[in-house]
Amino acid sequence: MAELNQLGGSREITLGVMGGGQLGRMFVHAAQRMGYFTAVLDPDSVSPAGRVSHHHIQTSYTDPAGLARLAEVAHAITTEFENVPAPALAELAKSRPVAPAASAVAIAQDRAAEKTHFASCGVPCAPYAVIETAEQLAAVQDQLLPGILKTARLGYDGKGQVRVRTRAELAEAWSTLKQQPCVLEKMLPLQLECSVIVARGSDGQCVNLPVQRNLHRNGILAVTEVYAGNIPVALAQRAIAAAKSIAQGLQYVGVLCVEFFVLDEASPEGQSLGGLVVNEMAPRPHNSGHYSMDACDVSQFELQVRTLAGLPLVQPRQHSPSIMLNLLGDIWPEGGVPAWDQVLALPGTHLHLYGKLQASKGRKMGHLNITGASVEQVRNTALQAARILGIEAF
Ligand code: ATP
Ligand code: MG
Repeated sequence: MAELNQLGGSREITLGVMGGGQLGRMFVHAAQRMGYFTAVLDPDSVSPAGRVSHHHIQTSYTDPAGLARLAEVAHAITTEFENVPAPALAELAKSRPVAPAASAVAIAQDRAAEKTHFASCGVPCAPYAVIETAEQLAAVQDQLLPGILKTARLGYDGKGQVRVRTRAELAEAWSTLKQQPCVLEKMLPLQLECSVIVARGSDGQCVNLPVQRNLHRNGILAVTEVYAGNIPVALAQRAIAAAKSIAQGLQYVGVLCVEFFVLDEASPEGQSLGGLVVNEMAPRPHNSGHYSMDACDVSQFELQVRTLAGLPLVQPRQHSPSIMLNLLGDIWPEGGVPAWDQVLALPGTHLHLYGKLQASKGRKMGHLNITGASVEQVRNTALQAARILGIEAF
């Protein structure tokens, strides 16, 4: 990858990304800041990343001509969403470095494969059963109920999930999900949710961002809080070690986010599973890592650039306590915009908008990072901003 390091030289070095959503846009910004040219492949003519990239290849993710064009202009290629077809990444890898690898992305795309991988790394997940056939459905053990039936593939933001209490509901839910391959997970008593972002280089070096404490509402991330004491230190250390072993086990190159459940300690599950279980992983930067753009000396997107370009990885340092509020389309008033002037009048607010022109319910339009000198100050400011924006307090 030596050619990728010729930053500031006489040649254009171009980094490519599959997908043109907000994660791609923030990757493009980070790459451009470091002097790289960028190429985005996304079918949408107004994708958030496509609009800010030097090259926008507007084809489907599987179009052979589009992939050939991306491999022609980009010296190395990454992805910004996990549902990019793994064969497309494998095709690109024939001619260019691709990180993360198609094999790792393929595992992250399939909940059953993902759980098998977690187990092979010695990291427990929720008790579950794979349901691909009527026989498997009939053989489900009662102790997995109440549970959540999740499609094995293509779920996000809580989509493709049905909560079930009884066998009858389970059978009905599987029909509703068109009898696709699914996993049934036991519903666990959650004390809180957290995530860890790691970046691993091709030399095996692995660094991490601090543990993020996440609040989901309606299956969508709403608030991320990152500061000393957001979760007990011992748990944080275990989560970081688990995330690193999951990356290591995949021989992963790139940025990986691993989401965890912290269980209610008093519950039987909390005791038998040891308090911390892995939920899922995302083979890319993650919504819960956006605070790193303003609260850390290296953001998750710069880490993605560095892993892709073979630049040195250094352990990021968080310099400010931080809270991130997700800005969903729900808070856009009809025909208008939220009261940004009031929000930006609060010290330590950093507004990130993704250039999406249509607000709709549940759509991720942007995020607001809040930094400050103390946890108390950050929490106060975040709660004030939430009140102004009509986001429920946390
Ligand atoms: P993402 O947008 O993170 O990809 P997703 O659609 O893949 O979300 P999950 O992360 O599987 O969905 O679940 C969404 C949320 O539902 C979790 O963050 C958690 O709050 C809740 N949840 C999921 N599985 C369980 C479980 N086994 N027990 C209790 N709560 C759960
Ligand atoms: Mg999730």
